[in-house]
Amino acid sequence: MSDSVIPEPIRTTLPVSTGGTFPVRRVYCVGRNYADHAIEMGHDPDKELPFFFQKNAECLDTSGEFPYPPMSSDVHHEIEIIVALKSGGRDIAVADALDHVYGYAVALDMTRRDLQGEMKKMGRPWEIGKAFERSAPVGPLHPVAEVGYLDQGRISLSVNGEVRQDGDINQMIWKVPEMIAYLSQYYDIAAGDVIMSGTPAGVGPVERGDVMVGTVEGLGEITVTVV
Ligand code: MN
Repeated sequence: MSDSVIPEPIRTTLPVSTGGTFPVRRVYCVGRNYADHAIEMGHDPDKELPFFFQKNAECLDTSGEFPYPPMSSDVHHEIEIIVALKSGGRDIAVADALDHVYGYAVALDMTRRDLQGEMKKMGRPWEIGKAFERSAPVGPLHPVAEVGYLDQGRISLSVNGEVRQDGDINQMIWKVPEMIAYLSQYYDIAAGDVIMSGTPAGVGPVERGDVMVGTVEGLGEITVTVV
């Protein structure tokens, strides 16, 4: 019996395509990891390296519904791949980094773009633009044992049947091993950590009633309705 003095918070887990669940520890997200998206956001990918921020584990949501969040009138979709880690450490070498990957999932980094923009202008953290309730719709995790290591393949998102984002994961500026190695210089990364690996160009607003379908070659698709 727990000796917790409050009700135990719910531990976020992701379903695994081959059975079982994956408990989530931290959610790292990379910004501007596809050059064409960096350009559409007004940045020069040759001058600025990608960088990281975090969401909370409980931002991940597998319900298939995305509740339009409060305090925003400009909520954007970002189709991404989640990389889930089965182990971690510090100062991991790029050459060893893939040994820590458990699998991958299709996800959306939903963003209150208006709030993110205000925070950028004021030089403040982006958190209220990124880490809000159910801000990361996600599909099932596919283990490496099932799908192999992904370093290329189409990544796309349609809204109400119209393609909005269409890229290839081989366009990532920082590849998955580089992201893991980089993060391990700054943090003790560990089993249960997941990385949202950035989005290609074409981000844009959604409204209640919209149906988003995100597809990644090799990982299938997720369908998420804005409610
Ligand atoms: Mn993103």
